[in-house]
Amino acid sequence: MTASKSNLRSSLREAVGHPGAEVLVDLDALAQNFRTMADIATPGQCGAVVKADAYGLGAAMVSRRLQHEGCTTFFVQSAEEGAALRAELAEPIIYVFNGVTPGSGETLLANRLRPVLSTPQQIERWRALRSAPGGADDLPAALHIDTGMTRLGLSPRDAHALLDAPGGIADLGIELLMTHLACASDADDPLNAAQIDTFAHITDRLPGLPTSIGASGGVLLGEAFRGDIARPGIALFGGESNPSRPATLAPVVTWLAPVLQLRDVTETLPVGYGATYVIEAPARVATVAAGYADGYPLSLSNAGIVVVAGQRVPVIGRVSMDMITVDVSALPRGAVAEGDRVEIIGEHMLLDEVAQRAGTSNYTILTGLGPRLPRRYLGRDD
Ligand SMILES: *Cc1c(COP(=O)(O)O)cnc(C)c1O
Repeated sequence: MTASKSNLRSSLREAVGHPGAEVLVDLDALAQNFRTMADIATPGQCGAVVKADAYGLGAAMVSRRLQHEGCTTFFVQSAEEGAALRAELAEPIIYVFNGVTPGSGETLLANRLRPVLSTPQQIERWRALRSAPGGADDLPAALHIDTGMTRLGLSPRDAHALLDAPGGIADLGIELLMTHLACASDADDPLNAAQIDTFAHITDRLPGLPTSIGASGGVLLGEAFRGDIARPGIALFGGESNPSRPATLAPVVTWLAPVLQLRDVTETLPVGYGATYVIEAPARVATVAAGYADGYPLSLSNAGIVVVAGQRVPVIGRVSMDMITVDVSALPRGAVAEGDRVEIIGEHMLLDEVAQRAGTSNYTILTGLGPRLPRRYLGRDD
């Protein structure tokens, strides 16, 4: 091998081996959060909401680990998401929040996905599917009652009308009665109790049918808000859902991004698009490979904080598509080098704080993590 070829090899190895930007998903922390929520939900069961690719973290890996932890009921949004999950996991119960939308029946049946029925039209569609030859007469479904969100679900009036009609829900295979709380993040909101009351008027007419009420925030609200199958999503991923009843959850997500450039500033200079920040010399600026295309919010321009070499440092200037600039003047010389990785989200800069600083929600930050960021899984992966 010639010298130049071997040099090329070793520099390639360096380039390939050098870690770039990525999102680490700690499956052991996920499992711990599932156990925390399942303990609180006892004696009810704890399901898991893994819609939107498990809030951007990868529904396949997340669900496989949750199944290993004893989770037997998963909730996704669409039939397509359900089919993708079924390809990974043969056994668990999978509910589809969107229900039987026009054209989704075949996918539901082929993958044994249980629709969450929300409208009189869906109920008719489901009846037809169940009674068709080779239909789904053994596939159960859930009934979603809207008790205060005016979003998805049968209105209480339509629910009572359904129960008053001859036969009621007898031919629908309903195995779960579901509702969703609008204000679970606030224990003092009177809508919480009002929704439970409205729901109880319907569930009282169907004794013995299991219920599902609380998402993460509702599970933390108290016993009356859990039902028989809890439906947490964000809490499993370490996100706060109920500031009025906080839970101790392990951080699941770490976003690391490398320093692309370090600049010693020896004269007063503008930083970034629009020159919204002016840095005074002497100073040191690090340019980091994380931008709004990766899901770092534009609103963190001159407002974000990242962790460099263990120290919190401010984002200065406007967030670009692919980069942010941070003021690392306070770090000792040599503490950070080109290629070093910076914690954008993680143990020292929690998802919840990033969301708060950005004026958005932890849900938005998680689901906004860009497709360009590879997800890497830590911990037991089954
Ligand atoms: C998203 C969703 C959940 C999970 O909510 P979290 O706040 O993430 O726990 C539960 N139920 C329904 C109907 C949802 O849409």
